[in-house]
Amino acid sequence: MVTMFFGPLKAGFELLCGDEEGASRTMNEFTQTNPIVMPCRLLGAAICNDPDDCEETLKAFGKSMGNMACSTPLVGHAISAGYAIAGKEEQAEKIFLQASRTTVVAGAGIVGSIAGPAGAAAAAIEAGTIWDMTESHATGKAKGIMTVVEAIRDDKELRPGEVFDSLMTPVGDAITGVAAAKTYDKIMDARKKNQMRQQVQSENNVKTEQINNLEKKIADQGVDNSKKLANDMSKKADILREQVAENESKLLEIQRRQRCRIRNPNEHVNGHVSVTIIDEYENESTGYSKRLTDASETTRFDRGPTSRLEQAQSSVTRIQGKPPLNICGEHMAYQGLSSDPVITYALQIKDGVVQCVDRCANCAQYDLGNVITDSINGTPVPFSLSELPSPGSYIGAVVTGTMTVAVSQRRNGPGRS
Ligand SMILES: [Zn+2]
Repeated sequence: MVTMFFGPLKAGFELLCGDEEGASRTMNEFTQTNPIVMPCRLLGAAICNDPDDCEETLKAFGKSMGNMACSTPLVGHAISAGYAIAGKEEQAEKIFLQASRTTVVAGAGIVGSIAGPAGAAAAAIEAGTIWDMTESHATGKAKGIMTVVEAIRDDKELRPGEVFDSLMTPVGDAITGVAAAKTYDKIMDARKKNQMRQQVQSENNVKTEQINNLEKKIADQGVDNSKKLANDMSKKADILREQVAENESKLLEIQRRQRCRIRNPNEHVNGHVSVTIIDEYENESTGYSKRLTDASETTRFDRGPTSRLEQAQSSVTRIQGKPPLNICGEHMAYQGLSSDPVITYALQIKDGVVQCVDRCANCAQYDLGNVITDSINGTPVPFSLSELPSPGSYIGAVVTGTMTVAVSQRRNGPGRS
């Protein structure tokens, strides 16, 4: 990682320390392995007709990519298993340690990210340093920052490039930790998005089935435009739900004021009805039952306390023992019509679910055209289909995150030479 990404910086350090040979080697390697600079070098070699340099650059680049793979969790472990099966135990162990180190450092970064990016970096540096201390102790060969520590202890001479690589190890670990934490967040975010999408999709499937069922029941009554009617009913179900939700606190207040015996905690949001009437000119008008219009403070009839429906069909009288005549949604819906009713439907909400509902005994006396919901009482009316959230992409997060993790952890590549 060090030379691949910080080549010019490392070469500068080497020059400062008087290691011209090291600096030249570093820059050579940098131009062969840096993914952005390497194509320029290749192009230069092609223009100068230098096939040897082309071949050498490609070889170095391929080797550095191979090293990246070996440092990548899971990928590196799989490669290690391959070497083990082929009987190359030493190589297998080396790659296994490389990949495991990245896994540990990245994992620490994810855990540390609870305290933000700085936490991710600190935890990753700590994990990487502990790993290197342990490995240095076990193998007797200094790794990472331990190279400098050991050199100071043993008064050993290090090349400037080696010092630079060793000091840069915690930087690489920090980058790995932060990248891993970011990748983890992105993956979790994608997972959440996909779960939401699946949920909406299955809800929509249920709704579609309910709409089809409703459409069939309407068509069975010999009504044209059954599809449009079924879809309109589902839009009206949305509106009824919204009306109830918007006025919930007011509905509760009214219920308390009336000091009714509360049998069900949802009583104030249950039982509200919306009625839609379509007339000869296909104009439609929707009204609501009195409890809901009281809560929303909506005027039910523009002229006085009597509805136009009561006036138009005055032979209808209140049935004994039933509530007052014009508290139903039918009266309010009729108010907005300019010609005779042709089709009428009524919807009722209970525990957040909307169903078709038949007319009460009072309203059943009125001529309201074909009241399609009378014969399909209790048929569910779904809310409109929800918009499908865009899918979360795991792949983008995994690829970019893994690349960053892999390149920052490339330990045994040419950068360590
Ligand atoms: Zn009624």
